[in-house]
Amino acid sequence: MRIVIIGGVAAGTKAAAKARRVNPNAEIILYQDEANISYSACGMPYVISGVISDPDQIVIRKPQDFIKDNIHVFVRHHVTGIDAQQKSVTVKNLETGTIESVNYDSLILATGARPIIPSVPGIELKGVHTLRSSTDLELFTAELQSQKPKQAVIIGAGYIGLELAESLKALSIQTTIIEKAERILPQFDADMAQLVRDHLLEQGVTLLLNDGLVSIQGENDHVSFVMTESGLSIAADLVIIAIGIKPNVQLTEGAGIELGKSGAIAVNERMETSLSSVFAAGDCCESFSRITGKPFWLPLGDIANLQGRVAGENAAGGNAGFTGMLGTAIFKTFEMNVSMTGLSEKSARDAGYDPVSLIVTQLDRARYFPGGKKIHLKLIADKRDGKILGAQAIGAGAVDKVIDIVATSLLGNLTCGDLENADFAYSPPFSAVLSPVIVAAGALNAKLGS
Ligand code: FAD
Ligand code: NAD
Repeated sequence: MRIVIIGGVAAGTKAAAKARRVNPNAEIILYQDEANISYSACGMPYVISGVISDPDQIVIRKPQDFIKDNIHVFVRHHVTGIDAQQKSVTVKNLETGTIESVNYDSLILATGARPIIPSVPGIELKGVHTLRSSTDLELFTAELQSQKPKQAVIIGAGYIGLELAESLKALSIQTTIIEKAERILPQFDADMAQLVRDHLLEQGVTLLLNDGLVSIQGENDHVSFVMTESGLSIAADLVIIAIGIKPNVQLTEGAGIELGKSGAIAVNERMETSLSSVFAAGDCCESFSRITGKPFWLPLGDIANLQGRVAGENAAGGNAGFTGMLGTAIFKTFEMNVSMTGLSEKSARDAGYDPVSLIVTQLDRARYFPGGKKIHLKLIADKRDGKILGAQAIGAGAVDKVIDIVATSLLGNLTCGDLENADFAYSPPFSAVLSPVIVAAGALNAKLGS
């Protein structure tokens, strides 16, 4: 049996490794159009800030590391088409220009996503960057070294924009963020996103909301300022475009592979596409929410790994099922750790629940123990049965711990009553005697009248 995998960052390499474990005899071929494979894009903001000193550290496995598992990796090879009838792909060697046709028994699409680029005048100027691929990182770091920019404009106050705001401050680059929406972080409820906004302002970031990019102007081919929709002209020697991503689905055209509502590839629980023997995993595909059961596109690295495992197993002849996404995410900007799981209050209402919520603020260790840091936890439950629907935890404290507790409670369909009585680890250096989750669940339970 021959398994062909297209794309070799998170989902593709995980699928290859899993397929090998499930089927020791299968021939496994992976095509990746970049020079690097198996790197952690998640680490890139920290390479830029210098927290990670060597970019090589975010490369998990090199092509040669796959040889011992008998996985044939071809970097700088771009798959240009799929022939569903012949069960073959057309591959172009980007070094030599050679084109060949390769048959498959199972095919896995792990083609990921790419940044959305606005079509504004000046977008092609030097000094304008995106951050997605390993090539993007090389260009970005080269720019920082050669130009030593002093004033940056980031377009988009999402995950990349806010992570990079911190990285740029570490490099003493004054930063303005331009955000099209009236507030930052639309995935979060407004009351929680406000805490992050306040923190950005405290850190000296200039935040322009309800504004957009009209044009980028340059001198000697290099960016020098940007013009905004509201008529502002902002001096900038570095511009970062971070207004979201779109799935790489070009190969589906003509191959008869259906897309979902989000525009990403539709898959079932086995990560099978609409085309027989063809699977998809990671940012290129749309799966489903474990809470609502509805289609959901959540382009995150941990999800790409989980889905890659399922696609790899099934492509190799196994029978695994992906259990859906909770919507758990976390990032950090300056001293603010920002996390969520499940539904926000707004998305719960949109999904037909009757949400009730409250916010508690606590230290992440005993009040008297040195070094405690704040956690603001918003817990959301359904008024009808007290079932937990989601949470958002923001603050300088250990928000990952509380958010993972709530994520686990979503897996178990727990209620506020269950969480109020949970027995969590306690000792002063680690936590308050009652976790913020217990305090919030108890208060929410009382609010529900239970
Ligand atoms: P991709 O990483 O997009 O990889 C797909 C690969 O396939 C690419 O190399 C592409 O060039 C290649 N390819 C596409 N088409 C073809 C073709 N036709 N032929 C050959 N090759 C092809 N997620 C988190 O969960 N936590 C984080 O902290 C986090 N931080 C992030 C920070 C940054 C700056 C970025 C950019 C992303 C971050 N993410 C994070 C998201 C995470 O990196 C992605 O979800 C993950 O990389 C998706 O993996 P993937 O394999 O599905 O796709
Ligand atoms: P994003 O979707 O997180 O944020 C994009 C932001 O740009 C939004 O606030 C949006 O309102 C705004 N925007 C959209 N169009 C605009 C325009 N024309 N002008 C100004 N603002 C505009 O996208 P991103 O920050 O580009 O990140 C891409 C993806 O990378 C994320 O969706 C996420 O999957 C992944 N990522 C994850 C992490 C993490 O999990 N820690 C970190 C970085 C990136």
